Amino acid sequence: MEKLAVYPGSFDPITNGHLDIIRRGLRFFDRLIILIAYNPNKSGLFTIEERMDMIRTVIGADPRVTIDSSPGLMVPYAKEKGAQVILRGLRALSDFEYEFQMALINRRLDRDIETVFLMTGYKWFYTSSNLIKEAASHGGSVDL
Ligand code: ADP
Repeated sequence: MEKLAVYPGSFDPITNGHLDIIRRGLRFFDRLIILIAYNPNKSGLFTIEERMDMIRTVIGADPRVTIDSSPGLMVPYAKEKGAQVILRGLRALSDFEYEFQMALINRRLDRDIETVFLMTGYKWFYTSSNLIKEAASHGGSVDL
């Protein structure tokens, strides 16, 4: 059976931390859907289209990766696509509580879909979309 995972997030914008999770996830899954899961009542810095374009640019043409967006719940989306796994990345302790809650709620919604976590790479421990936006807005370099 094909192993398919959905990697949901805001990706506003995509960072090297996200990319690291995507690359490592592709070692375990045959296909990955990178899903911009957005709240229609909240606007980010970049539009959904801009975020999708940036992801496409950094991923390139990889037939294993699909980029999509959805305003709804993750679990019905994953179910509809035939995915068995929701992939998430874990950084510092601050991610844990929220991710734990989400994983428990999602499991309650459908026990057949598991949330799988990959620990951040040490280089990306402090990398977040918010920090990058903050640095860039003050003219700081966000190059590597
Ligand atoms: P959200 O808005 O749901 O927090 P993000 O776009 O910030 O979504 O991130 C999506 C997923 O990627 C989350 O599981 C988040 O913990 C993970 N992630 C974000 N940045 C990093 C990073 N630097 N290293 C590892 N995982 C990360």
